[in-house]
Order: sequence, then structure tokens, then C-alpha cells
Amino acid sequence: MKILFIQLFLIFCFSIEILASSINFTKEEKEFIEKNPLVKVAMMPDFTPFSYYIKDTSVGFEHDLLEIISKRTGLEFEKTIDKWTSIYNTFKNKEVDMITSISYKKFREPFTSFTSSYYDIPIMIFVKDNFGEYNGIKSLKNKRVGVLKDVFYVKELQKLGTMNLIFYDNYADLTKDLVFGKIDALIQNLTNINYLIKKNVYANIKLASELILPNTKKEDLRFGVQPENPMLGSILQKALNSITTKEKEALVTKWIGSIKEYRGGHIELNQEEIAYLNTNVIKYCINPSGLPFEGLNEKGEHIGMSADYYNLFEKILSARFDLVKTKNWNQSVSYIKQEKCDMLALGMETPERKKYLNFTSHYLEVPLVVATRVNVPFINQILDLEGEKIGIIKGDAFVKILREKYPSLEIIEVDDIYDGLDKVKNEQLFAFIDTLASIGYEFQTKYFGELKIAGKISESLKLSIAVVKKDKTLLNILQKTVNKITNELHREIFTKWIPIKYEKEIDYALVWKIVIGVLLLILLTLYWNTTIIKANKLLKEAKKDIEEKNKKLEKLAVTDELTNLYNRRKLEELIQNEIYRYERFAHTFGITIVDIDHFKKVNDTYGHQVGDKILVEIANILKSSLRKTDFIGRFGGEEFIIICPESDIEGVKKLMESFRLRIANHNFEIIKNKTASFGVTVFKDGDSIDTLIKRADDALYEAKNNGRNKVFINM
Ligand code: GH3
Ligand code: MG
Ligand code: MG
Repeated sequence: MKILFIQLFLIFCFSIEILASSINFTKEEKEFIEKNPLVKVAMMPDFTPFSYYIKDTSVGFEHDLLEIISKRTGLEFEKTIDKWTSIYNTFKNKEVDMITSISYKKFREPFTSFTSSYYDIPIMIFVKDNFGEYNGIKSLKNKRVGVLKDVFYVKELQKLGTMNLIFYDNYADLTKDLVFGKIDALIQNLTNINYLIKKNVYANIKLASELILPNTKKEDLRFGVQPENPMLGSILQKALNSITTKEKEALVTKWIGSIKEYRGGHIELNQEEIAYLNTNVIKYCINPSGLPFEGLNEKGEHIGMSADYYNLFEKILSARFDLVKTKNWNQSVSYIKQEKCDMLALGMETPERKKYLNFTSHYLEVPLVVATRVNVPFINQILDLEGEKIGIIKGDAFVKILREKYPSLEIIEVDDIYDGLDKVKNEQLFAFIDTLASIGYEFQTKYFGELKIAGKISESLKLSIAVVKKDKTLLNILQKTVNKITNELHREIFTKWIPIKYEKEIDYALVWKIVIGVLLLILLTLYWNTTIIKANKLLKEAKKDIEEKNKKLEKLAVTDELTNLYNRRKLEELIQNEIYRYERFAHTFGITIVDIDHFKKVNDTYGHQVGDKILVEIANILKSSLRKTDFIGRFGGEEFIIICPESDIEGVKKLMESFRLRIANHNFEIIKNKTASFGVTVFKDGDSIDTLIKRADDALYEAKNNGRNKVFINM
């Protein structure tokens, strides 16, 4: 009886599971799954964030998607992971049942049945960190916006007519110009962000939004299935249909929404560090009454300078920092001792604390000042305070330092800054020591006319991030993050939190003192910054030097010495690139072989040197006639190859016709007239470099046979 009950219960659960997935498979589909549960699927190794590797594990949006489908259908996926060209061929050769991340193209229909799209790759807008609020595309009005030229949505952007579009040949320059402020924003496809991040370690650009244009279709990602296998196609389609909006949103947030691309990009993280951020929420404690450095607002949210830093850290690390709330600084210190939090947002390194905490290098340095009542004389040095009661916040690193250094001082610990300043006001304390920033901040709101800043002491407060000792990975991540904070950012946060407000009942003398104090602080910061700037400049110069040398080497390796055009090796690489692009995005391209007519005669009549000169002259004519998107190289002897991306045969022919005329009409040195013949073709499905060049060569042969000085095409 009991067993029967359990069985019934299991059947019940099982039906719930089926119901939950709510897929209505036909009888044939069910049979298919039963007979062919193993599906061979081909996927990419480097298509972040859809299918890629972290360490030795393949991960990504598509892997999660397949797992859901597997649970719902009972299908199991056997993955072949290789670069796009390989898996695409594997799929075309029918060695696998399906392929992922394939976009719909008409020409693929004979060998692919497509499911609906499970993701459309968005186009992203990036701006500088200091861009201000981004409220949709209208925020780009009259702004300098960089885009890659010829990218498919340019026309529509131009139609908008509101922004000042600036075109680039490559993403590297585009990104650099945004980082250095030559443009205000840039627009690019999500898949290219990966490239951008790998190459650059900039922390001062941010993602503003996705670009939505009514007539621009995004690149769609689908499953492609062998057309001979309609059953698999319909099962996959039903499984995709069963994915709810919520589930899809969860996938998007996990892999795309949190801009995972940033992780390990601006900041170079190793796999262990990435894994750490993937699995951990970082719990941190602050000084709840340490404004302007840090504190809580009425809603109990973390505000202040450290909050600004951590908001940024969250973004660039794509990590989660959760505040563990405490009543006061003292409690924060005891919390971290008990490991109730992993780190202190701002802490000063002291020998005592180093026993249980590790510190990053300091990222804030502020002088300490002495606050007294207004009627007290100014304090020139800390020893002027001898024999007086001096308040310092309980648990503050300075309590110990000052006690050891100045045993003659009577240091009284207070709960927080209000406690300290109130006690000075009520004459329970003679003075209170804290940073200028915190005291200055409180003076703006309270204590005006009653207290003053009586002097500065020589010690300054150097603030770092303090991490519990055992958490080395977190320490490393945060140190890398601190290293990346730019001076610009420091300044921005500093000026945001240390403003000087002029209010009604002002004691101007006091204001002046604050102003002078703040100026001092600014000077100190500037001094600190200039030292860093100097070091940075040296580094930059060295980097530039190396980059220039590398560039020269790179150029040598790809250049033909005589004509300064690309050499044959580079030409082949460029053609291969175009073939990849064609296979991935179906962007077709044309190539042309140019051969100088009766060139032997030049050599025979005038000698080899004159021949060389003519070669260079013709190379220059061809090069200067090129469109920006085209490439030219010397293929060998007196033959050149011209590559025209994104062009059809008619377009290329017209262009070559104009090249031909320019050569024919040119007045050459010594020999006066020379002509050349042109063989044109475009890339077709199934072509290799060799078959492509062969076709162009055949066209050239025809041109020569038909009297030379001609452009012939061969389709
Ligand atoms: P056509 O192409 O019109 O049939 O006649 P052609 O005389 O140009 O014949 P072909 O293409 O077979 O000959 C190419 C000649 O170009 C052979 C060689 O003397 C010359 N040549 C190849 N490379 C160089 C070079 O670097 N410098 C010079 N001066 N001549 C070169
Ligand atoms: Mg030749
Ligand atoms: Mg020739």
C-alpha cells in the first residue's frame, strides 16, 4: 500500500514536471526523443558571452539554454566546440545534427532549417564616465558620436541627423578616441565589446544604453538544424517556445545584462578571480558616521566618497558588494574581526590591524585637523594640546598612534564625530581630532560660529581597503581595482563631497579657515597626483616607444619593399579575413588582379631600374584611387591584387574601369604611356583563396587575349 502510494506520488510529480514545461509533443516527436535522445551540437569556443571558455569549462548563455532544453525535452547534447569556420563546415557536411549562434540568411536555407531567434545581439552605446545622465538617443544630440564606417545601421543614424557622426576604420581607434575625449560616445555591436575590453584597460568609459532603431535589424542568433531532420527542428522550436519571458530575462541578466564583458576587461583578472566574483557577494562594513568619506543616509543607504568608489567598482568588476550595517565604526571593526564582513571600505593600515587584515595600497590621503571652540588660540603643533582633553573616535587608528607618539596627551575616545564635536562645544573636551574633510563637512551643517578649525597636525590619514586576512583573492582583485582609479575620478569624487557651501548665518572668519584648510588639502592632493602623473608620463613614453617599434616591425612583415603596398602574405591573410566575415555574416567581397601590359618590354628597352620606377608609379596610382574600405597589395612581379569588401561585381567593375583609365591616361616618366589589364571576380559560397584567385586570373587572361587595357569579369 505504502509503495503504491509512493508510486502514485512519483507519477504525480512526474506529470507536474511535464505540465510545468507545458510542451505538447506529438506522438512522433515523443517517439523521436525516445529513439534519438543524443543530439550532436556544434558550438563556438570564443563567442563571449554565448559560448566560450572559463578555464577548461565551456560556459555561456547557449550552454544554459541547452541545459534547460535538455531538462524539458529529454534530449541530451553532445557538444563539438570549435571555431566558427570549422563548425560551420562540420554542419554543412552534416557531421552534426545542429549548430548554435547561426543567423538567418537566405543562402543558408538549402542546408539549414532555422529555429526562431533566441537572442538578438544588441548594439550598444558607450559614453565617457563623466557624460552625465543618459536619457535615450536624444542625449546624443549635437554630440560627437563615433561609429565604425559602413556598419549596417549607419544610414539610419544619419537619417536621424541629430548627432555629429564620426567614422572610424577600426574599433581600437574608436575606443581610444572615446577614452581620450575626442568623441563623446561610441556605438558598437555587443560582440565587439569583448575585443574592446581585451585590448584596453580603460576604466573611464561606461555603457549608456542599447541602441534601438526602428528599421535596423539586430544580428539574430538561432539554432540551425539539418533540414532532413524536421522532427528535431520542431522539438527544439517547441522547447524554445516554452522558455518564459522570466527565464529568458534571467539568462540575459546572468550572461549579458550585468555586462559581464567588463569583467577582467578594464581590470585584468585571472580565472580564479573571475570565478570568485561569479560566486561571491562581497560583504563590507563602513564607518556609518564618517561623512563625507562614508556614511548612511536617512534610508540607511551607503553614501559618501567610498559609496561612489564602490558603485564604480561594482560596475567595472560586475561584482556585488553588500553593505553589512553597523551602529558605529567600533562595531565595524569588531564585525570584521568576527568575519561578519569581508572587508572595510576605508581603513587605515596600522601594525595592530595588520595582524588580522590585509590592506590594499591607500587610495585616499587626508590631513588631520584639530577642532576647538572659537575662543581658543590657534594650535601650531600637536604639543600645544599637552595636558588638555582631546577627543578621537573610538577604534580610530589614530588613538593608538597618537598615544604612543605623544604620551603626554590625554586622549579620550568618543563614539562618533557628533559626540566628539558636541563634547568640545559643551567644554567636556578641549579639542577633537579628525580629518579636515569630516570636520569641514559637519561644520557646513552644524556648529557654525561655535567651533573652529584651530590647526593641523603633521600626521595624515592614509585610507586603504582592508580585507580579512584569509581572503587573498579578494585582496588581489581590489588591489588591481585601486590601481586603476584615475586621478580624474579621484578629483571628481573629491569635489562632489567636499563642496563649500555659503549659508546665511555664516561666520566669515570661520569660512575662511575652512577655505584655507580645504585649499591645503587640495594642494596636498595635487602634489600627490603630480607625482603619480610624472611616473605615468614616463611609463606612457616608454610604452609609446615600444609601440612605435612594434608598429615598424609589424609593418615590415606585411609590406612589399619596392612599392610599399601589402605583400603577398598579407594579401592572403586579408582575403582569408574577408572569407571569415562572409561565412559569419554573409558580407560578400570582390577581388581584382591587375597585370601591367607588356611590362617585359619596359625592362628590355629601358632597363630594370626604369621598370622598377614604373612599378612604383603604377602602385601609387592604384593606391591613391582606392576607396577607404579597399585593400591593395603586390601579388608578385608586376601583378597587384585589390580587395573590395562589401561590394558586388558591378560595383567592382566600375571602380576598376576608373583605375584602368587613370593608368592609361597617366603621363609616365620616360616611357610616357603604359596600360594594365584587370581580371575581376567576387567571392562565392564554397570558394577557397585559390579558387577565388584562379577565377580572377582567368578573367585577366581574357582581358589580355582581348587586346589588353581591358577590365574583364568572371563570375
Ligand atoms: P603581358 O602581361 O601584357 O602579357 O606582358 P608582360 O610583358 O607584362 O608579361 P609578363 O606578365 O609575363 O611579364 C612580367 C615581367 O615583369 C617579367 C619581368 O621581367 C618583369 N618584372 C617582374 N617583377 C619585376 C620587378 O620587380 N622589377 C622589374 N623591373 N620588372 C619586373
Ligand atoms: Mg605578369
Ligand atoms: Mg604583364
